[in-house]
Formats: sequence, structure tokens, C-alpha cells
Amino acid sequence: MRVGVVGGGFSGLMAAYRMLELGFDVELFEEHGRVGYPPHCTGVVSQETVEGIGRPAKEALEASYEGLIITLDQVKCKLRTREGIAKLNRVGLEEILLREVSRRGTPRLGARVKRVTPQGSLELASGEKISYDIVILAEGVHGKLRAQIGLLHNPTTSLGVNIEIPGSPPWEKGYFKVGFAPAMNGYTWEVPVGDRLVVGALSIDPREAVRAAKKLAGDKKRLRVYGGRVIHGPPLPRARRGRVVVIGDAAGVNKPVTGGGLWPNTVLVNMWAGLIESGLDILEAFDKAYSSIYSRLYKQYKLARAFYEASARERTKLLRFLGSLLERGLCDSLNGRIGYDSHEELFGVILRDPRLLLKAAPLMLRNIDIIKKIIL
Ligand SMILES: Cc1cc2nc3c(=O)[nH]c(=O)nc-3n(C[C@H](O)[C@H](O)[C@H](O)COP(=O)(O)OP(=O)(O)OC[C@H]3O[C@@H](n4cnc5c(N)ncnc54)[C@H](O)[C@@H]3O)c2cc1C
Repeated sequence: MRVGVVGGGFSGLMAAYRMLELGFDVELFEEHGRVGYPPHCTGVVSQETVEGIGRPAKEALEASYEGLIITLDQVKCKLRTREGIAKLNRVGLEEILLREVSRRGTPRLGARVKRVTPQGSLELASGEKISYDIVILAEGVHGKLRAQIGLLHNPTTSLGVNIEIPGSPPWEKGYFKVGFAPAMNGYTWEVPVGDRLVVGALSIDPREAVRAAKKLAGDKKRLRVYGGRVIHGPPLPRARRGRVVVIGDAAGVNKPVTGGGLWPNTVLVNMWAGLIESGLDILEAFDKAYSSIYSRLYKQYKLARAFYEASARERTKLLRFLGSLLERGLCDSLNGRIGYDSHEELFGVILRDPRLLLKAAPLMLRNIDIIKKIIL
């Protein structure tokens, strides 16, 4: 079976890597002359993601953490996650995946695809036309080819900015920080990696993202500055047209709260590969795997929507509400029990903890408008 992959970002490379392991004949097209460039991603992922990607992620590992310290509306919550968190070298990861894909497949760098049909035909900018049994579209957030096959998508996006500065953190080792001020329309991060810190912010207001990242960097020497558009869902409801499937940022396969794309795409591709191995037809297997990740991401999207698609007043109210919940015991309840990728489990944790539920109930009743938005 011949598989054509459009896009040599994480999602395209990861899909190509798995399809090659299954013995398919894979050709991958990347418009740039190298993979990983321009860099944009911070590369913070769960340990589950590292395991899911396998050897390439272990090779690209830069640091590991037990959890994160969240500062929300003056409340500080030190949260150990159910499994560890890792920082990957993102350019390195794509280079390693490319090396793996090159072993058995055919990566074509500097090759831009300009047209795709639902029947699985690609036309390159050079004029060359090729047909495949299946095309995997992993072209990133712009989604121009996806639109050609009638799969329209208009997710909420923010701008994310990373600044790398020298220094080590004054807080406890093994943790990174997440905060909201000074990016009230998004969030900030401070991630220690050896003798440097990756500080950054994302916001639906691009100027705020730049301002917040600069504020965190202070007057420290800027070693690297990079970033790009981050997707907050919803995921594309249907991600296949004929013989063409869409994955990655192009389909909004991202954790909507943080915009993280590596975990959901790893889950999607691994589940897809597993179903093919169990004997399902490749397209049927995709539909099944996609609908499973879609429903999980859609639950997370409801929480993200209550934040990113709200008015400034509603956003402040949501942050206060979550801050008060953390203060009243949510932080302790979550400690060690919630996964880095499981934002949809947040309210489940409250409902399963009778003591916390008792303390949180009056607050939840006062904020019933927010709860309704997240649940319905
Ligand atoms: C600031 C920032 C921080 C982030 N931090 C994290 C994080 O900590 N953890 C996490 O999990 N995720 C994070 N993300 C999200 C993550 O980076 C993305 O979800 C992921 O990189 C998406 O990969 P992709 O392969 O779908 O798309 P892309 O990485 O955009 O790759 C698409 C590729 O397709 C190529 N292409 C496009 N059109 C064509 C064409 N017509 N022909 C040939 N090639 C084409 C492009 O050149 C590109 O290489 C972050 C994103 C940003 C912007």
C-alpha cells in the first residue's frame, strides 16, 4: 500500500514513522529544505507522550519534571502530576524522526505540494503528479490543502512566544512554573532546562503574548526567541475525505487548554496503527481512532472555550473561580492524581472527592453559569 504524507512537522513524521513500521510504502513531502525549522514549540510533554513516541523522544529528551507550580489569582499550587513531564528538544525530535523515516521510506525535502484530491492524488509545485492509496495531510495550522478537499476549519488560536535565557530557577528542582498574570488572556510558562530557562507566554491577544514573554525574560540575555500560532480547538469534527486523512494542527488535534499537539497526535497515530495491526482496513481504522481522540479533545475544548472564547470579565471570573477551588482543597486533591494531558478530568476529581465537593459546592453554585458552559 502506498502512503503519501504531506508535511514534515511532528505529526507527519510521526505518522510516516508508524506507517513504515507497519510495512507500508511511504513517501513524505516537506516544503522546507530541512525539518524542525523555523522552530516554534516549547516541547513540554507528558511521560506518556515520550513512551508513545518511543526511542526518538527518549533521544530528544532534555529534562524531566515531577510536576508544575501553578500560580492562579494569587493562589500557588504545587502539583505533582500522575506521571512525569518531559522537555524535548523539538528540532532534535523532528531530525531524529526524519532519520528514522529515511531508513525505509522516501522523505522529499524542498518539495511543496500544491494540490490534493479526495481520490489520493498529489500535485507538486514542480508539476509532478503522484497517486497514493492514502494521503496523510499534516500541513500545519494554515490548512490550505485541507480546504481544497472541502474540510473547512476555523479554530480559536493564540500567539505563543518562547524566549530562552541563561539561569537556573530559584524554585524547587523538578518543577516548572505556569501562571496567568501578566497574560490574562492566555498563560505563561517558565521551564528550567540545565543552565537555561525557557520563558514564554501565549495569548489570544498577540501583543499581550509578546509583552508577557518579554516581562518574564527581564533584562537577561536572550539566547533564542521563537514561537507561532497555537490552537485551542475545537478539533475538526470529520478529518477524512475519501482517501485523504487530516492530522496534527491541520485538524486541530491539540489539547485545547494548552494547545499541546504532541500528545493527542501520538495517541491518534498509535491507536490508528494498532487498529490496522488488528486487521482493520486502513481508512476504517483511521475513522475509529479519530473519533476516539475527537471525543476526548472535545470534552477538553469545553473548558478551553469557557476561557478563550469568553469576554474579559468572564475570563477573570473563571480564573477567580479556579483559584478559589485550588485554595479550598482542589490543589491537594489533584496532587498526584491528574495526568498532564487530562484536563477533562478536572471536575471529575472534585465530584469523586466528597470532602472537596462539600467545600466547593457553595462556590460552584455561585458560579453555575461557568459550570454550565464547561459541562454542556
Ligand atoms: C509557541 C508554541 C509552543 C508550543 N508548545 C508545545 C508544547 O510544549 N507541547 C506540545 O505538545 N505542543 C506544543 N505546541 C504545539 C505543537 O508545536 C504543534 O501542535 C505541533 O508542532 C504541530 O505539528 P504538525 O506537524 O501538525 O504541524 P507543523 O509543525 O506546523 O508542521 C507542518 C509541516 O508541513 C509543512 N508544509 C505545510 N504545507 C506544505 C505543503 N503544501 N507541502 C509540503 N509541506 C508543507 C510545513 O513546512 C511544516 O514543516 C506549541 C506550539 C507553539 C506555537
